[in-house]
Amino acid sequence: MASITRPPHAVVVPFPGQGHVNPLMHFAKILAARGFFVTFINTDRMEQRIFKTPNDSAAVSHQLLQQGLQIRFLAVYDGLPPDHGGVQAIDEYFLATQKLGPAMVRILRSTANEAPQITCIVTDCFMACTHHVATSLAVPRVVFWTYCASAAIALANSRTLMDKGYIPINVKEARRPENLITCLPGKIPPLIPTDLQTFFRVQDTADPMFQVIMYESEIQNEADYVLINVFEELEGPEAAEGLSKGYPALPIGPVFLPDFLQSTKSSVSVATSLWEEDLDCIKWLQTKALSSVLYVSFGSIAVMSMKQLQELALGLEASEQPFLWVLRPDIAEGKAAVLPEGFTERIGERGRIVQWAPQLKVLSHPSVGGFLTHNGWNSTLESISFGVPMIGWPLWAEQFHNCRFCKEVWKIGMDFESRVENENALVSREEVEMVVRAMMEGPQGNELRKNAARLKEAATKAVMAGGSSYRNLDKFTRDMTARANSVIE
Ligand code: UDP
Repeated sequence: MASITRPPHAVVVPFPGQGHVNPLMHFAKILAARGFFVTFINTDRMEQRIFKTPNDSAAVSHQLLQQGLQIRFLAVYDGLPPDHGGVQAIDEYFLATQKLGPAMVRILRSTANEAPQITCIVTDCFMACTHHVATSLAVPRVVFWTYCASAAIALANSRTLMDKGYIPINVKEARRPENLITCLPGKIPPLIPTDLQTFFRVQDTADPMFQVIMYESEIQNEADYVLINVFEELEGPEAAEGLSKGYPALPIGPVFLPDFLQSTKSSVSVATSLWEEDLDCIKWLQTKALSSVLYVSFGSIAVMSMKQLQELALGLEASEQPFLWVLRPDIAEGKAAVLPEGFTERIGERGRIVQWAPQLKVLSHPSVGGFLTHNGWNSTLESISFGVPMIGWPLWAEQFHNCRFCKEVWKIGMDFESRVENENALVSREEVEMVVRAMMEGPQGNELRKNAARLKEAATKAVMAGGSSYRNLDKFTRDMTARANSVIE
């Protein structure tokens, strides 16, 4: 019988947070551009933040369809009250996501006639509930890692690390040579126990987030296929294999890069920002010299004390460097930051403060020469991909891993000595000034910029036709297309 080619249908499920919806949306578009039919499932809370009005998601689908991309959006109720703090009440938020499986199965079944037969569930690594979805619908579960491979390997092996006594983490003894972690698969560099998830720093294993992360880590291993938002040239070809238990484990990133390179030419973009982007800051960047601006942002979740924010402000002022600083409305432990008296007047045109930036446009701007970042994986990978070296200020989750790898393994980063010794120490304005100057005007910064430029080139090559991530995507596309068609040959 002649074979009929029908499109694979991927159901893409992000964790409901900015650093997860962003990469999964980019990946959804890559899949759609390769001929997949995509169903993107948000929680209702995320859908309202992204699309503002209920009709917008349909309008976006329609717009994408006109560009030849088939992506439909579905939403499930997250079970939490409307005034819930979301990611800021992280344990409750996670526990709510862990219960979403049955609602996803229901909505997929009730809308089955609108879409081709489902081929696979592409799930965020932090959506354990999709195990129920994949099992109920008898389709493969493709685990998409929003981490680099080495951090993913560490997390996926949490149980082993607990059995070996590395978890709960003994922070004080972490840097002793005998405590180096060398037992993990994937030929990754030895890890320091403080590279592991910060949720494992609590000594009480009954702690809700300790339990949540341990459970997620166990379900992460329940996969049929693994994709990682990284590129082979960064961590070596064997790193990804450390995530395989006999199934393919492929680096396919940076997933935003093809989209970014394309959208500089055409305009198929899906806005996923939870806050309104301040586009005027790009005009301001135009007025600044090449590689002269420090971009400062701590991502979508991290908060700081008011005292630390004020000290950071005074350090930026003392550094005399131009800076673009993202101060989310909730950055000061849930409130807006109150900056030192007279700060904005003294800074004048040298500094710019925004509530939320178009980060990809900022990092790719030639005026940006450094990034003071919390080292969330998306921000780190975005900075790497645009050749911008980093000053790391990790705050939680696996950000300490990313920060240390930027500094010690990839040689594209610096950090704050005081925080390496004690992450809770107040970073003084003097230390901020010293580190910012070293990055922006010293030989050390220039060296890091050269190293970062090399990685930018490697990242760009990886996603272009014939590159490592591109080839891995070819394989994934082939495998899923074969699966979609195997039932009707
Ligand atoms: N981001 C942005 N504008 C900002 C700050 C962040 O668009 O002003 C985006 C950034 O490009 C990244 C995401 O938000 O894609 C943050 O993800 P990351 O993993 O870095 O950190 P998280 O927010 O998850 O802690």
